[in-house]
Amino acid sequence: MFEEEKYKEVLNELNGKAKLCAVSKMHPAEDIQKAYDLGQRIFGENKANELCAKAEILPKDIEWHFIGHLQRNKVRQILPYVSCIQSLDSVRLAETIEKEAAKLNRTVDCMLEFHLASSDTNKTGLLPQEADMMLEECTKLPHLHLVGMMTMGPHTDEVNEIRSVFAEGYKLFTRLSHDNSDIQILSMGMSDDYLLALEAGSNMVRIGSKLFRG
Ligand SMILES: *Cc1c(COP(=O)(O)O)cnc(C)c1O
Repeated sequence: MFEEEKYKEVLNELNGKAKLCAVSKMHPAEDIQKAYDLGQRIFGENKANELCAKAEILPKDIEWHFIGHLQRNKVRQILPYVSCIQSLDSVRLAETIEKEAAKLNRTVDCMLEFHLASSDTNKTGLLPQEADMMLEECTKLPHLHLVGMMTMGPHTDEVNEIRSVFAEGYKLFTRLSHDNSDIQILSMGMSDDYLLALEAGSNMVRIGSKLFRG
């Protein structure tokens, strides 16, 4: 079920200063259509099959963002549909995206995913010390367009711990965007922590459970 009131509340909070990636994973196309009818265009999915099936039947001007761990053998499948891959976390994945995007004669927007929260159970993502190497490798790939970075807050109720991870994310983002002026998006913040992420300087939040229920 799509929560229209919650959606409007979130848009008010974002107040045009941050973009909303509505995370629609595990929710049916009809719920996505309801959000679309209210003007939502960016949707996040974390499974290749699910993204492709939904993209086939939903309006073509939806921007599909891939936000889950991406296996290299799924890149070819999602490329015809996806507008941005937020979860770029290795050189090998970048090279696969390059190869497949070249075949389709398109460029793909990507974000570098960083693992910053030490207490996080989710171990995917680059380490901050790999950032320079990734920037350099990606400049060799003409069909891969770096537009931002993505990260997750820690799984904790400790507000100070969350704030400190988000502050680290913002600092890294500042450095990356200084080195590469195409890097403009800091995708940070989910249903439980997006207000803290916005305070820290995030300009894209990925919100799922607050907007979709059941
Ligand atoms: C599921 C997911 C989200 C949304 O999380 P909610 O807590 O449901 O808002 C955001 N980012 C990623 C990478 C996800 O997998």
